[in-house]
Amino acid sequence: MIHLSKYIVVTGGVVSSIGKGITAASIGRILRSYGIDVTAIKIDPYLNWDSGTLNPYQHGEVFVTEDGMETDLDLGHYERFLDVDLSGECNITTGKVYLSVITKERTGDYLGSCVQIIPHITDEIKAMIREIARKSQAEVVLVEVGGTVGDIESQPFLEALRQLRNEEGHDNVMFVHVTYVPYLKAAGEFKTKPTQHSTKELRSTGITPDMIVCRSELPIDTPLKNKIAHFCDVERNAVINAPDVPSIYEVPLVLDRENVGEYVLKRLKLGVKKPDLDEWRMVVHSLKKDDPKVTVGIIGKYVELEDSYTSIREALKHAAANLGVKVNIEWISAEDFIKSNKIGNFNALLIPGGFGDRGITGKLGAVKYSIENKIPLLGICLGMQCMVIEFARMHGFKDANSTEFDKNTKNPVIDMMEEQKKIKKMGGTMRLGTYPCKLKEETIAYEAYRKNTVNERHRHRYELNNEYREILQEKGLTISGASPDDFLVEMIELNDHPWFLGCQFHPEFKSRPNNAHPLFVSFVNAAIKNKNRK
Ligand code: GLN
Repeated sequence: MIHLSKYIVVTGGVVSSIGKGITAASIGRILRSYGIDVTAIKIDPYLNWDSGTLNPYQHGEVFVTEDGMETDLDLGHYERFLDVDLSGECNITTGKVYLSVITKERTGDYLGSCVQIIPHITDEIKAMIREIARKSQAEVVLVEVGGTVGDIESQPFLEALRQLRNEEGHDNVMFVHVTYVPYLKAAGEFKTKPTQHSTKELRSTGITPDMIVCRSELPIDTPLKNKIAHFCDVERNAVINAPDVPSIYEVPLVLDRENVGEYVLKRLKLGVKKPDLDEWRMVVHSLKKDDPKVTVGIIGKYVELEDSYTSIREALKHAAANLGVKVNIEWISAEDFIKSNKIGNFNALLIPGGFGDRGITGKLGAVKYSIENKIPLLGICLGMQCMVIEFARMHGFKDANSTEFDKNTKNPVIDMMEEQKKIKKMGGTMRLGTYPCKLKEETIAYEAYRKNTVNERHRHRYELNNEYREILQEKGLTISGASPDDFLVEMIELNDHPWFLGCQFHPEFKSRPNNAHPLFVSFVNAAIKNKNRK
């Protein structure tokens, strides 16, 4: 049987960073509450093939999927809101589209034709979108177009999506335009003109929005919504207001109050079903808990832009909600950690992943501080590598290092994986995606997961050097997780420490609001215990 998906295309207008991804993910959550199968696609109109080579300062965290694609952080929001695992194909970039078309041209697939944006690029975009629909068998495919309407880069995508509506039919494709309605203090009123202009811009591409989601700082009233409906030519009940809320997880509830689900169901002729957002409501309720608080210090390199660590921040929130506490996160620049006078205020420390040697001294200082003061420490990827380096330094290997930071170190306790040494290309060449990890019983890891084998997502080139495995264990390091063939060390702990755990993988990518990650739960629990100890 041919599978027929419906598509909801989400575009953005007025300004960027208004939460288009969260809005799209929230619409998806609402549809899931009706029992509808939803998948999501994020279109990034940049030329990079994937997000792997992007600086986190520019685009925030690189999210890694199960199948090992380095993607935009919005895919993380989709996984958390929809509670599904997405494949890397769900992140479509201009780079992927063009590379595929040019490869086909070189192979001779278009022999005789002049290869052009229309139809070749637009056909490729539609084919990629339909392929995801086919593989996922989802009833509804959310397609978020990155950037703001009017950007040169997004034009081929908008054109392809306009064609998609014609080809799939009006009942099977709808457009949601997310805009911003600013409040002008001096005038004492909200302004709808930017929304009108950006809708006009969208219409100039041949796309008429079916629904407009107005983001605003404060709630807007019905007359203003009616004005937008009138000027932008959408139905009155399709002008939705999404004012700022304290937590992103509340957005589905806000949109639900605006009857977004009902409208979408009617518009896409999805048939009447009964929604059930109760589980989500409970999650939001537990995430709202404000007391008691625990404070976790995150010692990272990109702390000026919190989005660089989106999944870690969210995973900590999920774990705290699971334990009935609130987690306060303090972001500390690795370079400043030693100087920081707040050290004593942290109930636990976390060293996230990273690349390059900037800030390493501060991270090693944090490891030493954790060991000496018995402060719980979770080290993720580079964080685990720092734990191993500092532990080795404190146990006789004064010059222990990773060859990432010092190629000629005499004691390379962290070294590049053998298969990585031959690789010259940078993009998509790390050890990426999900791998199994065997756990050792009677360890913090085992206590947390209560499983013999777990699957976690990776993104790294370096690992613990097996030549040092034995001696480090003799000095008190526990290897609590390893690859099933026992060749790669995946998790380490310290015997005489309340909670000191490093993992070579990134557990944060798999945490969900309704299913907090066991390692984060164990970690936040250790922070609570440490707080109560004081
Ligand atoms: N730079 C380290 C490596 O490549 C750690 C990577 C990471 O933290 N994601 O192994």
